[in-house]
Amino acid sequence: MGGNRIFTGLNVILDGQPRPATVIVDAETGKITQVRDGTSARTDFPDTTDADWLDAADKYILPGIVDAHVHLNEPGRTDWEGFWTGTRAAASGGVTTVVDMPLNSIPPTTTVANLEEKRAAARGQCWTDVAFWGGVIPGNQAHLKPLIDAGVKGFKCFLIESGVDEFPCVNESDLRLAMDEIKDTSTVLCFHAELETTPAPAAPTEPAEPADPTLYSTFLASRPPSLEVAAIALITRLHAQHPALRLHVVHLSAAAALPLVRAAQAARLPLTVETCFHYLALAAGAVPRGRPEFKCCPPIRDEANRDALWAALADGTVDCVVSDHSPCVAALKRTEDGDVMRAWGGISTLGLGLGLLWTEARRRGFGIESIVEWLCVRTARHAGLAERKGRIAEGFDADLVVWDPDATFQVTKESLNFKNKLTPYEGLELTGKVLKTFVRGKMVYNAAEADGFKGLEPVGVLL
Ligand SMILES: [Zn+2]
Repeated sequence: MGGNRIFTGLNVILDGQPRPATVIVDAETGKITQVRDGTSARTDFPDTTDADWLDAADKYILPGIVDAHVHLNEPGRTDWEGFWTGTRAAASGGVTTVVDMPLNSIPPTTTVANLEEKRAAARGQCWTDVAFWGGVIPGNQAHLKPLIDAGVKGFKCFLIESGVDEFPCVNESDLRLAMDEIKDTSTVLCFHAELETTPAPAAPTEPAEPADPTLYSTFLASRPPSLEVAAIALITRLHAQHPALRLHVVHLSAAAALPLVRAAQAARLPLTVETCFHYLALAAGAVPRGRPEFKCCPPIRDEANRDALWAALADGTVDCVVSDHSPCVAALKRTEDGDVMRAWGGISTLGLGLGLLWTEARRRGFGIESIVEWLCVRTARHAGLAERKGRIAEGFDADLVVWDPDATFQVTKESLNFKNKLTPYEGLELTGKVLKTFVRGKMVYNAAEADGFKGLEPVGVLL
């Protein structure tokens, strides 16, 4: 019989407000067997070893973050990111589960054989638990049900060019075939929601000056909110034909699309929406010239748009927040010439999300219980993991984070744990520091160690 691990503290986030509690974990299974009201004393558990006892005192104990949108890129583009570096970065930021996107690895996760290739590459390398999204591309509809049976948590598709050749976007007829195939399942179909409609004929004017490709505003003008609005209009129209199927919009940026989302939700369609740390923490006006680290698709928009996204989170239109960690190598990020137009679109965030969101949320009057709802509870539900992840409760995995809400830290290159140290957040001072991260009761990150990982092991499993 395995022993217990005990976590006690004055500020444990169960459901709602922080309160004194004691969490008892079966060391063997990594499951929470009991949650008691009130803190405990070391002497209450005489059979437990010192190594299996943690008193967080006035520091917080949060459920581990479920980051439902991450690109780990292995195998195939492992120089961009990999399971080892990506999940270490995640663990350092209090993330205990990542759900890997089907594209940017080679092969993409569009068949069961490809999924197995990915799993083989991941085994033994994961510091957090890892689940997988499958991909919908033109013509792979026969692979969708087998992928569900093989364990993918849902599917992602693109309505606009994805940026990599092996993951083409789908059109309406591809989507009809895919939706028909999965309509009687409990899976979720996720959309990169930007759609180009036929451009209006150009007015006969003087040829304009070529726009400066190092200006963020040039890029911003090339991906207007109307692309997101058009995509979400298509999604909600198709949804009405398959009203039982769960649909999800990934990384919503344009506040202009929120009325369409609200209308679909009011019509009781099971449509959920995520946004990202960067849309909530950054605004286009403050992006410096020649810094493609800030480029992502859809783009970061203006301050008013950012405020509207916060309001949509507050009223529940937007369900959850994810990283969309989507790195690449420096050459593709064009850090040399700062060409935002030609740079890879994708922001590296793993490890920083909680600090970014908390710093901004606190300023806007939100409490940690809202953050836990957005980053843990709802992302776990979205990824089909609500029975074991996202909450501190009996029967759940003991994915726990010891966190100091008041400690501040500066984002430095040296502090980043992901592979390519390129991020728009370098130099920022953030509030809310992860002290320790536990996956199923086992420590996977310890800020007290010089590198955060000394003496620890990659105990993550594939979900
Ligand atoms: Zn993505």
